[in-house]
Amino acid sequence: MTSRQPRVPLPGRLGPGSASASIALLATILTACSTSAPTTPQPATPTAAAQPSPILATDGWEFGTPPNTSRGLAITTRSYRLYTTTRDAALAARLPTLLEAALAQYRTLITPLPLPAERVETFVLANRAEWVRCVQMLWADRADAYMTIQRGGITANTKSVLFDLGPRDTLVLAAHEGWHQFTQATFKEQLPVWAEEGIATLMEGFRSEPGEHTRYTFMPWANLERFDRLRDAHGTGAIMDLPTLLASSPSRELSGGDPLTWYAQVWALSHWLMQPQRRPALERMVANAADGTLLQTVASTRGEAARVAASRGRGGAEIFATYFGDPTAHGPLDNDYKDFIRNVVAVGSRDRVTQGQPPSGMR
Ligand SMILES: [Zn+2]
Repeated sequence: MTSRQPRVPLPGRLGPGSASASIALLATILTACSTSAPTTPQPATPTAAAQPSPILATDGWEFGTPPNTSRGLAITTRSYRLYTTTRDAALAARLPTLLEAALAQYRTLITPLPLPAERVETFVLANRAEWVRCVQMLWADRADAYMTIQRGGITANTKSVLFDLGPRDTLVLAAHEGWHQFTQATFKEQLPVWAEEGIATLMEGFRSEPGEHTRYTFMPWANLERFDRLRDAHGTGAIMDLPTLLASSPSRELSGGDPLTWYAQVWALSHWLMQPQRRPALERMVANAADGTLLQTVASTRGEAARVAASRGRGGAEIFATYFGDPTAHGPLDNDYKDFIRNVVAVGSRDRVTQGQPPSGMR
């Protein structure tokens, strides 16, 4: 989905001493996400050292227009401007560190990637009612389409709009949405949806050590919510084959499909692509999207018709075929992917995933 928006005001007012801001909403692809996070507490990393606070400035911020206003904070870090009305002071204190730590993970997990040229904006509202108002203020003409999201967030035009889902789930969602902000702010071409969302789910995995300044250690396998959903789907025979997965999207799954199984499967797909035999191709695909040579690579590898297909609807299967090979159902790659899922959910894996470790024999 793309659309061009007029300039609209920031959905709130900054406190005394701060300049008011406005937001330019330019054409971009919507990324709507529906996610929830592990409910099992994650053990702390015993050797992790405290990190310095990334906060450069904290201002008062008032969300909404009178009389429906909520007091909050506008927090500035090197790469983020965080606006929040959460009543959870501990969450507000942890979010800036989480966002900056996640950014370091975005830039290094797959291939070296650049910093955004400007700060990106993240809104974390206190509840869904405020989230609805914020989404309507930012994206009036398409807000209705976003309202199917009951428990999740939206990132468009490099802005993420979330609401407080509880401490752990909010941080997981912020790490996921932050990947979309990052690619929207720095990539010259977009990844196909299966890769954009799959890599975002890799960013959800982290362990944290509370302290004066919480330290976050990102571990892509530390994601019981995705793991459990994958295991359930495998157990009930609901695993999609590669062509079906590559052709779908969160918004398509939200309207009648099974979005959480789709997310669990793109999480597994991304781990499968991170394995040594496929990882060089994954690195090339991500680097090509970042530097704007993705579609050109599709054209030179598979022809102009494939490029045109890939440029429409983000051509999931064509881009996959360009970098990894033929994804035909029941072909060698599809079978290998399904074998990988079978191994991921095998007995004993859940304990390793709980520790943030890959299942046996995997990376
Ligand atoms: Zn997403």
